[in-house]
Amino acid sequence: MQTLNANPNLALHPAPTAARVHASLPQLHAPRNPAREASPPRAPDHVRASRRMVDSHGRTIRDLRISITDRCNFRCVYCMEPDVLFSPRESLLTLWEIIRVARIAENLGVRKIRLTGGEPTLHPELTEIIAGIRGSTGVEIALITNASRLSRASLRTWKHAGLARVTISIDSLRADRFARLTRSASSPEEVLAGVEACLAEGLTPLKLNAVLIRGFNDDEAADLATLARRFAIEMRFIEYMPLDSAHAWDASKWVSAAESRRAIEARFPLVACGDDESSSTARTFAFADGAPGRIGFIAPVSSPFCGACSRLRLTADGKVRPCLFSTTEWDLLPLLRGSACDEDIADFLIDATWTKQPGHGIATPEFRQPPRPMSAIGG
Ligand code: SAM
Ligand code: SF4
Repeated sequence: MQTLNANPNLALHPAPTAARVHASLPQLHAPRNPAREASPPRAPDHVRASRRMVDSHGRTIRDLRISITDRCNFRCVYCMEPDVLFSPRESLLTLWEIIRVARIAENLGVRKIRLTGGEPTLHPELTEIIAGIRGSTGVEIALITNASRLSRASLRTWKHAGLARVTISIDSLRADRFARLTRSASSPEEVLAGVEACLAEGLTPLKLNAVLIRGFNDDEAADLATLARRFAIEMRFIEYMPLDSAHAWDASKWVSAAESRRAIEARFPLVACGDDESSSTARTFAFADGAPGRIGFIAPVSSPFCGACSRLRLTADGKVRPCLFSTTEWDLLPLLRGSACDEDIADFLIDATWTKQPGHGIATPEFRQPPRPMSAIGG
């Protein structure tokens, strides 16, 4: 088993609390991103007049992912290096800025908001964020988490505040690997306790995400698939993308959806569900033996789904990213903190969407990895 930039010492550190993570890291500032632009060029008048976020390739934005913090208590090898640099605290979106953007985005056609990060459960005002979005919009509110800080009480509070759905990441069922992969003090047992807590609190349908990395956990596809059967939920396998802060991704390390599927089918034959929405990132399968649960494959590297993309991202420091792989991002913070009215912000979002690139082109020689990792972008 090889290690990828692993720092074994980190696995021995206690998991930081939300307050400690937010309080202990303000001195680490991310370098200025040279590709960061202030404002997007103006979209054509008819596009602005539509009051919808459509891009120049005919796609409409329905799904907004808001990274509410770039901090995390894990340091997953495919995402965040131990010495990753964080944005200065004063540049992070405030509770009211997040709620305001959510409200304006809904008026522009967004139907679902996923709160992400970093680790969103570290945010000290997560309940208020959920309640604020719920109180001012009718969008579906989803959360993606590493499940290291879930309790039935907190889940109940979030559900009461308006949280509809949860996705949990779990990359290994083996404690030693889990520690090496996440470089955290958490464990598979803790994550599975989070899964049980979500189910007990009725936060369904629940989805699990795993990223397989060659030489780390690529032999665990079928084991992880058993979680779908055990909990009657969807277990999804995401191809490892070049969005790691170490820039260590290379073609030898990602595991294709086809390979994961073959490994699972050697134990559990699958049948295509055939009911995936066109804008869905996952292709889903049921178990041929009729067991409960589903398997999903998210294949951005081997089968890019850019043509049906309905997503826009807002980073924790207020940058609009039209694509996960954008090398240009648009800075909304000056408008949010200046005298811009809601219509100005709506125009900005429409203009930014119009710049959305047709696809990410990971497989092409021209591909350039974005400077910011998944944890800063919001996965
Ligand atoms: N901390 C939370 C978590 O891990 O679920 C939310 C943020 S994390 C950035 C969101 C998702 O992005 C996780 O499912 C994670 O596995 C995935 N992710 C992070 N880096 C990735 C990469 N380089 N390739 C593919 N997926 C990645
Ligand atoms: Fe943290 Fe999630 Fe990135 Fe892992 S994948 S380091 S849990 S943000």
